[in-house]
Amino acid sequence: VNRRRAALWGAAVLVLAAAGLYALYEVSRARCFTLAGPVACRVETQRPVVALTFDDGPTAQGVDAVLPVLDAHGARATFFLIGREAQNRPDLVRRIVASGHEVGNHSWSHSRMVFRPRGFYGQELRRTEAVLDRARGPAPRLFRPPYGKKLIGLPLAVRERGLTMVTWDVEEPTATDPQRYADEIVAQARPGSIILMHPMYGANGTARAALPLVLEGLKAKGLKVIPAGALLENRG
Ligand SMILES: [Zn+2]
Repeated sequence: VNRRRAALWGAAVLVLAAAGLYALYEVSRARCFTLAGPVACRVETQRPVVALTFDDGPTAQGVDAVLPVLDAHGARATFFLIGREAQNRPDLVRRIVASGHEVGNHSWSHSRMVFRPRGFYGQELRRTEAVLDRARGPAPRLFRPPYGKKLIGLPLAVRERGLTMVTWDVEEPTATDPQRYADEIVAQARPGSIILMHPMYGANGTARAALPLVLEGLKAKGLKVIPAGALLENRG
């Protein structure tokens, strides 16, 4: 009997531990909530403005494709850059800034930023800040968590550095057809939206091909594209 009772207790503990881990997993990927500090996934506004955010890189392939399209549409966007990659391509960071766009901090190593030693988070933020500062643009004020993952240490470090954590409310479509990809983004976008796109790497051809269609669709919907920082501060 005692052995059976022990087995039951063991099973109960396992179930509770699994439920706890699942809850932590869900909290870690929540777009509009953190356990330890603010996060912006969109802005409540009546103004017909949205932010277009490009994650990762910079790469020459992505920057060469994206900058002329944004320019042709008079759109200013936000690029969340990986410190380690920005360090290797300071020319690309400078081109983004010189074209009037905003750069944000997307961590140094693009690793999952949960269950790390306390000092890890601050170091990831500081090293990236130092690289982005060399582009001589306005100091980056925004941080986007890699994979959207965060629990407690990261939000605390982001706040300590005086940064604002930004996620998104318009998810990147999985469609491989550029027109469908663009249509899905435009259908979800509304005043105050923050749109996520990944245009930087070889496998991101759909996002690059879809960008002009996204910009045309947003314009047809009466939505103007402004940097995320301006959206959050209700200007631009
Ligand atoms: Zn990323």
